[in-house]
Amino acid sequence: MNNEETLTGSCLCGECKYAITSELKHFFHCHCIQCQKMTASAFAANIIAVPTKINWLSGEENIKRFDYPERDFTQVFCMNCGSGLPFLDGRGELLFIPTGTLDNVPKIKPEANIYWTERAKWYEHGITAPRQDACDNM
Ligand SMILES: [Zn+2]
Ligand SMILES: [Zn+2]
Repeated sequence: MNNEETLTGSCLCGECKYAITSELKHFFHCHCIQCQKMTASAFAANIIAVPTKINWLSGEENIKRFDYPERDFTQVFCMNCGSGLPFLDGRGELLFIPTGTLDNVPKIKPEANIYWTERAKWYEHGITAPRQDACDNM
């Protein structure tokens, strides 16, 4: 059965926009040290999909790719605003879609927290901290 779904997304400044029609295979929250650095946050939320075609609707010329030398690990981002964007892995076999860039809601839901032992020491405290709609206590 073909499970294809179309996802659309964009960077923060709006220069880069994409549409992807792929079979969504996995949805992971990755807590590895590299993902913490790359996202400047607690973890990376990524959907992994095939086939690997990204249809750039705009801004493809503003994209930069960084391949981490010590591991098959990549960051693609908008050179204007720094937001992460979808990319193909080093072998060109899998498509990684940073879920925070999506402008629609995928049917797939997170299935695992991977590299859990490397998680940020403050991550679980953040989950249980009080929830509020805006930041009114700075
Ligand atoms: Zn941008
Ligand atoms: Zn990771």
